[in-house]
Amino acid sequence: MDPNRVGLHKGSRRVVVRKEHLMRAPEYIEKLQPYVPGKPIEETKREFGLKRVIKLASNENPLGPSPKAVVAMRKHLKESYRYPDANAFELKSALSRLHKISLDQLVIGNGSNDVIDLVVRTFAGPGDAMVTSKAAFIAYKICAQIHGLEVIETELTQNYTFDLTAMGARIEQNERVKLVFIANPNNPTGTWIDKRSLRDFLIRVQQIRSGTVLVILDCAYYEYVQQDLFDDPMDLLREFRNLMILRTFSKVYGLAGLRVGYGIASPETANLTQLVRQPFNANTLGLAAATAALKDKAFVQRAVKLNFSEMKRWEKWCEKYDVPFLKSQGNFLLVDVTSGFGKSGDEVFQSCLKRGVIFRPVTNYGLPRHLRITVGKPEENTLAMKVLSEAFRKHANA
Ligand code: PMP
Repeated sequence: MDPNRVGLHKGSRRVVVRKEHLMRAPEYIEKLQPYVPGKPIEETKREFGLKRVIKLASNENPLGPSPKAVVAMRKHLKESYRYPDANAFELKSALSRLHKISLDQLVIGNGSNDVIDLVVRTFAGPGDAMVTSKAAFIAYKICAQIHGLEVIETELTQNYTFDLTAMGARIEQNERVKLVFIANPNNPTGTWIDKRSLRDFLIRVQQIRSGTVLVILDCAYYEYVQQDLFDDPMDLLREFRNLMILRTFSKVYGLAGLRVGYGIASPETANLTQLVRQPFNANTLGLAAATAALKDKAFVQRAVKLNFSEMKRWEKWCEKYDVPFLKSQGNFLLVDVTSGFGKSGDEVFQSCLKRGVIFRPVTNYGLPRHLRITVGKPEENTLAMKVLSEAFRKHANA
């Protein structure tokens, strides 16, 4: 076809139009690859005519929300005709007590994803660059591309961790780099960086261009991390003014559907980020639930304990079937199904889907051999292991 023309579907008709007659977006928007969420349970039931489907695909807390959060939401239901508190005073006050920080160090987001987007919009624009790693949480790349940034990704180390030395070099070499994204632990690999290496990296970045490159340390899974491997990162914040830490209520607090996350930074960094925030980005029920969930320490402990023991079961299962996996500090683990089953992650995902178990393929992360498994409740994991073992047996007998 003429390269200046494109074929379009208009209802059931196919029409050919000239390119200049089409709505156009900037090139960096037209090239975007959208975020692929975990497959929904109801959609899977409909597609395969299944009655029971379990989802171990979005790193949610299998225990559900904290009961205290549910009570708080009920209480606030009647308030939902009013706009939420644009300053999120109650939640910010509770967070400032918890982290021993001032209120003006906090930025509340519609999930931490929102804070990622806010930070990119605040500190960079078209033509600037951002540094992260291959197989880092994909929202960093997508948000940067949406705002016209160049995305620089360093290779993973052999252990599937971020290569901080290579990242430092790329920041030094390129004056256009304004932002650096690190997830600790990272999703989907589950791998983590120890605090000493992270501190050395932050010292290096602080010396580049007078400390004006902002490092975003995403600790979405912090509560699941064994304390001896990575203790509270808040002291890093006191030491480095070019650091922002991200946290979320979507994981251990079990409030993913309510969309509440936050960033903590120096007051200057937080104040600038506040300028681009929509005033009502966090909603009334989410704010109330998050504030109550913070008080429910017993619930968090229960979730962490369950994750720990069920993670051990998954590790044992992998060892039994000789399926390589990455040791994870999150509530999920990455398994190499190609070494284990001789099939790609996408193929194993599809065959388990038909049997009512949703895992997460990670080809879009450049990991076609792997599948990411969220650690579920004991009975969910038992069923998921059964479905995977059967796929394995079929492969072994083929
Ligand atoms: N960071 C990481 C590393 C994540 O895995 C996720 C969720 N998958 C998020 C941030 C975003 O979480 P939310 O927007 O729900 O707070």
